[in-house]
Amino acid sequence: MSRSSNKTYRFSHLYRGDDWLSPGYVDVDANGMIVGVTGVPTSELERRSERFDGFAVPGMPNVHSHAYLRALAGFAEPIGTRNRDFWAWRDRMYELALGLEPPDIEAITAQVFVEMTKAGFTSVGEFHYLHRAPDGRPYADPAEVSRRVIAAADAAGIGLTLLPALYMHGGVDAPLGERQRRFASGSVDEYLALLGSLGMKREPHELLRVGAAPHSVRAVTERELRDLIDGLDRAAPAAPIHMHLAEQRGEVEESLDRRGERPGEWLAHRFAFSSRWTLVHATHCDQNELAEIARREATVGLCSVTEANLGDGLFALPAYEAERGRWGVGTDSNTAIGVALELGVLEYGQRSARQRRDVHSDDGRSAGSLLFASALRGGAASLGQPVGSVEPGKRADLLVFDPNAPAFVGHDIDTFLDAWLVSGGAAAPSQVMVGGRWVVRDRRHLREDEVARRFAVVMSRLHRRDA
Ligand SMILES: [Zn+2]
Repeated sequence: MSRSSNKTYRFSHLYRGDDWLSPGYVDVDANGMIVGVTGVPTSELERRSERFDGFAVPGMPNVHSHAYLRALAGFAEPIGTRNRDFWAWRDRMYELALGLEPPDIEAITAQVFVEMTKAGFTSVGEFHYLHRAPDGRPYADPAEVSRRVIAAADAAGIGLTLLPALYMHGGVDAPLGERQRRFASGSVDEYLALLGSLGMKREPHELLRVGAAPHSVRAVTERELRDLIDGLDRAAPAAPIHMHLAEQRGEVEESLDRRGERPGEWLAHRFAFSSRWTLVHATHCDQNELAEIARREATVGLCSVTEANLGDGLFALPAYEAERGRWGVGTDSNTAIGVALELGVLEYGQRSARQRRDVHSDDGRSAGSLLFASALRGGAASLGQPVGSVEPGKRADLLVFDPNAPAFVGHDIDTFLDAWLVSGGAAAPSQVMVGGRWVVRDRRHLREDEVARRFAVVMSRLHRRDA
């Protein structure tokens, strides 16, 4: 742990992703990569360290976001039978999607990404499908909106795995609907060209990664998905692949009706999906589908707050854990953004459904320890970023919590993660580092005021009411 251009940090307590060092020292190089971690103090380390009195933990990867949906938060809640279910909510989402220009999308996305960093998410998989102009015509640069998302991530200083969606069909073997015209890709080749233009080869320390997102099993044919995977295998064989799987019973029924198989079966029988895959919303997968996902070491993306808001149903977490399945968390519609909030809603849903508190198998860890460790591990695999733990070779994405904050007073390393879990997000990190750079200091994001101003202008225009 040396080199003069490196920075060294000393934390009273450092959670590495599965255990604690007290104190813990982290050496970060000029690229923002971790080059040393130790719990053994020396006078030399003490001399050169910047000291933080508090609990430091790895930044959480957010495996699934549609940032622009934040503009709907609170505007699409049920009134009587209005906005009654997922499909009615989706109509509102389509209306919104047709009213946004690229600068609007950038402004909303920047606000969402800033909030993510403040809440403890230091990297995000943005599942992005607004490729075309509101009238359905391609932009002169097909990557126009993708570049806006990248600019928003730059403003927020968050790690981004950009996942442009391939959305070819509005339903199994059905064309895209008129209101889905912005999602179109033209062809798989055009889509692969879009990915290529975004630069799929990246250095480990870079904050940007590019992956593929065939939207869902209903949005692509077998042939299209095969062409996509073949193209990806040639260009970037390790790039992440994300896909919606089974959020709604209606999706499962459509798949059974039209293809004679459940979505997870259709995928598993035709494709060698593997650890580079993330399957988002496995809410309505049966036990066999979950066992297959676990066996192939894919990651399930759980978006508990959004799934609860939309009335999707409850994921069978204990059954999936019994298969040793991997999972990460996502903020999806971004109505509310929080690491502890996502994990808390996930945990409480399981407890309520089973009318008991011990919903996980007993491996000696507390609920908080188990949930955070699982979400870190699954999230890192899902995004294809060197994150999720504090060790050499990983990026320096760190959250630091004030031990004197009311939620943490009296807690030590045995109960800190539980205290954070049950806080529901009221206890946010006081400092947040992404790639070796502090983006949140004293709970304030470096650019939060200017980002919030631009967001407010867009929201005021979108939701302007006649007097
Ligand atoms: Zn989604």
